[in-house]
Amino acid sequence: MSDRLPGFSTLAVHAGAQPDPTTGARATPIYQTTSFVFNDADHAASLFGLQAFGNIYTRIGNPTNAVLEERVAALEGGTAALAVASGHAAQVVVLQQLLQPGDEFIAARKLYGGSINQFTHAFKSFGWNVVWADSDDIASFERAVTPRTKAIFIESIANPGGSITDIEAISTVARKAGVPLIVDNTLASPYLIRPIDHGADIVVHSLTKFLGGHGNSLGGIIVDAGTFDWSTGGKYPMLSEPRPEYHGIRLQETFGNFAFAIACRVLGLRDLGPALSPFNAFMILTGIETLPLRMQKHCDNAKAVAEFLAGHPAVASVSYAGLANDKYNQLARKYAPKGAGAVFTFSLKGGYDAGVSLVSKLQLFSHLANVGDTRSLVIHPASTTHSQLDDAAKVKSGAGPDVVRLSIGIEDKEDLIADLEQALGA
Ligand SMILES: *Cc1c(COP(=O)(O)O)cnc(C)c1O
Repeated sequence: MSDRLPGFSTLAVHAGAQPDPTTGARATPIYQTTSFVFNDADHAASLFGLQAFGNIYTRIGNPTNAVLEERVAALEGGTAALAVASGHAAQVVVLQQLLQPGDEFIAARKLYGGSINQFTHAFKSFGWNVVWADSDDIASFERAVTPRTKAIFIESIANPGGSITDIEAISTVARKAGVPLIVDNTLASPYLIRPIDHGADIVVHSLTKFLGGHGNSLGGIIVDAGTFDWSTGGKYPMLSEPRPEYHGIRLQETFGNFAFAIACRVLGLRDLGPALSPFNAFMILTGIETLPLRMQKHCDNAKAVAEFLAGHPAVASVSYAGLANDKYNQLARKYAPKGAGAVFTFSLKGGYDAGVSLVSKLQLFSHLANVGDTRSLVIHPASTTHSQLDDAAKVKSGAGPDVVRLSIGIEDKEDLIADLEQALGA
């Protein structure tokens, strides 16, 4: 082997995987088993006490999932990762390590609709309070900081309008406040943006989207950048204080720069239980092998479709950061030079009714609530993903009544444009 560091595409195919030591299988096997036999009683005791790493029970870890974890950690440039059952599960597990009841976290208002719901309602019942800020106004994050703030949460490319977030500026606010920056990197994938390179301390993904990439398997992942010092000021007792579940060990002291990933596994996943099926881990790993190829095609197609829409007489505006005159184009050039992603919105001169009519006339685009599939997808956020918001909040989060969201697939761009043309024109 040369001592060259492998590039992104090589890591996407190989990171974390070895031929199976028992059978020689080259593709990562699906270890479809709930539990694993111990070598002897001492081995069992050391696994349970966190003195040794190894497999115990698939709710805590599984060899197929471990390959996925190592691969995504490598692609994101983190120290370790933890795979879980869905993107939402990743968000719960992350915040459970950081917040006590009565604590706060700051979140950008432009977010996946499901995350707005989760933060506003489900987390309130845990005593975790979300404080909203506006990623177009960095000072709004600073103003939101209080002594109870424990984290800042943003999306790198934000739903639904595909806007680009100034990760470095918000990371500066997080540093000053002494709290970790969590970046949901779902819409960008590490192929387009690696948030850790820009100051993120924790990266989360819905693997369901571009990483899996084929619209067939749910999953989520948490990547630990290894950058945050959890011992300061007793703010993060899950990491800094002795854990009664594990003979009084302190996770930060014992595990150093991957303590957060360990906490998520042994305190979050073990006790909350949202384990990823090894079958889904296998499907998502297979998807990741072609991530660089797919993502480039997604972006190139998205740019062509956005340009077509921008020139169409029925279209009032297009919000795609890859367009030269877009508000976020400067940020896109800095953070996502290979492409501005494949999820974006546009608005129709005919308003709500025109949006509903368009969605019903499209044939190649599937009308459904997902993004990041090989297939092109369309949805009207105001009546679906963002329907729980009031009108003002809809507009603020980029999901006004006249807005249609597209997730551009990897079909031939000419066919996508022809489908939009017939649906807009007829
Ligand atoms: C889909 C999505 C989620 C939630 O992920 P699930 O896998 O559906 O739980 C979170 N964030 C973003 C940006 C998403 O697109």
